[in-house]
Parts: sequence; structure tokens; C-alpha cells
Amino acid sequence: MPRRSKHEFFDLIEMKLGAKEYTRRLNYGRGHHQFNPALKSLRSEPFDWQNLAGVAIIRASLENVAKLRQLLTPGAIFPITGGEIEAPSWETTMQGVLESLNKGLDAQLKQLDERVARHARSYQCRCANRIFFRNTLCLACKSPLGYLPDEGRLVALDAGPTPGTWRTDGSDHALKFCANRDSPAICNWMTGADDSSEYCIACRLNRTIPNLNDADNARYWAKLEIAKRRLVSELVKFGLPVKSKVDEDPERGLMFDFLRSLPGEPRVMTGHSSGLITINVEEADDAKREQVKYEMREPYRALIGHFRHEVGHYYWDRLVWNTRWLEPFRQLFGDERASYSDACQRHYKQGAPADWANSYVSSYATMHPWEDWAETWAHYLHVVDSLGTAMGFGIDAVNLQCDIEPFSRDALYDPDDPQADRLLSLLNAWIEIVMVLNEMARSMGQPDFYPFVMCKPVVKKLHFIHMIVADARTKLDL
Ligand SMILES: [Zn+2]
Ligand SMILES: [Zn+2]
Ligand SMILES: [Zn+2]
Repeated sequence: MPRRSKHEFFDLIEMKLGAKEYTRRLNYGRGHHQFNPALKSLRSEPFDWQNLAGVAIIRASLENVAKLRQLLTPGAIFPITGGEIEAPSWETTMQGVLESLNKGLDAQLKQLDERVARHARSYQCRCANRIFFRNTLCLACKSPLGYLPDEGRLVALDAGPTPGTWRTDGSDHALKFCANRDSPAICNWMTGADDSSEYCIACRLNRTIPNLNDADNARYWAKLEIAKRRLVSELVKFGLPVKSKVDEDPERGLMFDFLRSLPGEPRVMTGHSSGLITINVEEADDAKREQVKYEMREPYRALIGHFRHEVGHYYWDRLVWNTRWLEPFRQLFGDERASYSDACQRHYKQGAPADWANSYVSSYATMHPWEDWAETWAHYLHVVDSLGTAMGFGIDAVNLQCDIEPFSRDALYDPDDPQADRLLSLLNAWIEIVMVLNEMARSMGQPDFYPFVMCKPVVKKLHFIHMIVADARTKLDL
């Protein structure tokens, strides 16, 4: 059976929309005169491309066509990627063609809706009020709210079948609050009422939390947890393994120590080791973090950045080490067996090479292949999460008035990867949106929203990470 290129497919969609309207009228508008009766005979005629084009001329769903065209425009964050579809056989009747095209388009749109829903970072209460990721209560209808990490949804809750349990509209599944809901962490995540853990999937990753007798610590912990929940929600959406090393998977799991340096003791170092991520609680102190940022001459320093970077080290252990990706990793990022302590010393003594921006996303990434990986990984999560937010609020790059030279397949790690077009759409949309957001930040005298420049080698590394995530995830089609 012949296969059609993507462009032909999109032309077909356009035709089909017209054709759909046509068949609808044909089916429901019998006896009316607004249609040329001659077209009616098309239904049973053998399939003919020329004829189909003729049908397209009478298309009535121009609005839908425009919407689809927009999704195909460079700059759309998650464009439809049709790939190829099977052309109908010559024996098929026109009716059969129209029906199969209908089905094909419906499936595409459904897939797109699901993808948007999965990545969107905007939420609406059942009363239609806009609600936000960290909310515990809808201010309009006063419903308690809970986040369902597996579904990526923030939902209004009703009392469940037994005291202390909750349920959502249209589901009988009993849920319970995370035990950290009434703590300074103000966790709004839910877990199954029958779950053996009293904590949600994010909070159960904690091994050590700050000493809450200190009022500052309570404030800092809240900030740490909101950043961590944003991280974990993204990891879950990716379908990446997120199991607690504390009590679920001691071998390969993940856990956190939030530690504060004590007077007279060595400073707590933020870092990762074998699934344990240690975060210095002082990173949640804005004044101290800004001080370090200034001293280290960093363009960006944020809690969410630390979380994304450190978890990158964890997933390197899980997804690259001892896998078929290890050799390709070494080709692209360098040999990680080079002495880390030497690299560290050299970096802090000499700094990054002057031309680092031609190959790395940050100067810190030049230190060692592991750091290059973790920095690039963090940027991958920055981009996907931020674009999910943009998309959730209906922002994309389609109508932006800025001309960029878009990256093309030659910038990618594997130009033949079936996901290549999607990643390019993401990155090109990102660059345009960032250009605008940076200018807006400057309009307000604020630091740049995204103070980095993406060069081709970085795009290549991002694509490599994208492929590894795609390979690892179990349920997600980004
Ligand atoms: Zn509401
Ligand atoms: Zn929780
Ligand atoms: Zn690191």
C-alpha cells in the first residue's frame, strides 16, 4: 500500500475537514437544496485523489482548518506530527476514505489533547476558577484541592466513603491527604487511602528534614518542598522511576537530606551520592543564595535549579551507567572516568575556558562530563516544564514577532530520530519565547528570565537526553 508524506497527510486533513462537513450534511441534510445533488453520488464512487480534492473545495470547517494549520506552524510547542499514513486502496469508496480520514484525525486530535493535558501547568477548579499548583483551597467555591501526581491534575475534593478520606468527581477511588499537608511544607498532594505510606510520592523521598523548632527552617523547608514537588511532578510525567530510597527501593531509589550548616561545623555541601541528594537548607534563604550567586558569578541560581541538577546525577546512574548509552555518552560529553577531584581543583583555580559558551550550557558544565550532563539535564527539565506552563495558558511562539534562525535537524544528536521534529519544535519555540520574556524582564529591571544561550553542541546534548528519557519512560509520549 502506498504511503504518503506528512505534507500530503496534512493536506488530506484539510480536505477531510471539508469532507467531514460534507458527509455530515449529506447524512443529515438529505432533501435540502443547499447541496449540489451531484456531490451525493460521490459517496459510493470509487476513491480518486482528484475527486477528493474536489470535495475539499466545499469544506465548511474553516475554523478547524485554521486551528490545525496553526498547530503545524513552526513555533507551535507541541505540533501534530502526522508522520505517514496509509493511502486508501483504489477499491475503497469515497465514503470509506472519508470515514477513515475522520478516524485518523480524531485520533491525532485526541493524542494532542492528551499530550497537552499531561504537560500543561495550568489548572482549573470544577467551578471554572483558575487554581495553581500549590493551592490547597479554591478561593471561589471553597472546595479543598488535591494534586494527583499520577494524573498530573489538581482537583477539587469531596468527602470520601470513610472519615479522613477524599474522592474526586466521577471517581470512587478513595484518597487521603499527604501527612505533610498540615505541616510547614503545606503539601497538597494526594495518595491512595489504602497506601501503606502516610506520605505522598514526593514527601516519602525525605530522609532528613530541617529542625522545625527553628522558625526560619520552617520557612525554608516550605520553599524546598514546593521546588521539590515541581521537580517530582515533572519526573512522574516523564514516566521516570521515582521510588523512595528510604523505604521503597533501598538499592536504587532516591532520597533527600535537607541539612543546615551548624556553627563550628563544616559547611553542608549540596550534592548527590548513590541516590542521596543533600541540599543545604540555606539555599532557601534568598539573601544567602544571592550572595553565593554573586561570588560565583553565576547568571542563575534557584532552588529548582539545584533540584534539577542533582537529580540529573541520580538519573545518570540509573539511565546511563552500565547501559548501551554509556559509550555514546562518552563520545558526546567526554570520559567521566577522568579524575573528578582534579577536575574540581582545576575548575576553581583556572575557571572555565574562555570559549566555553560555544560548547556548554554553563561555565560549570565545563568542569567534568558528569557536571556537563547534570547541567544539560537541568536545562532539559527547565525547558519542558516552562513550556508546559506556557502551553497551559495558551502561549506559544506562533504569533511572536521575533525572527530567530531556527535549529534544524543537523543540530541534533540523531537527525533520524522519529522524535526529532518534536524536539526541534520545543527548542525553537523556547528560544523565541525566552527572547520575549528576557526583554519583558528587562522592561521591569529584573534579571533575565533565562540568562543562557543555546548553541548547537548544547542542542545535540539536549537531544541525547531527550532520547534517553524517551527510552526510559514507560508511559509518556512527549
Ligand atoms: Zn472552585
Ligand atoms: Zn506530600
Ligand atoms: Zn553536580
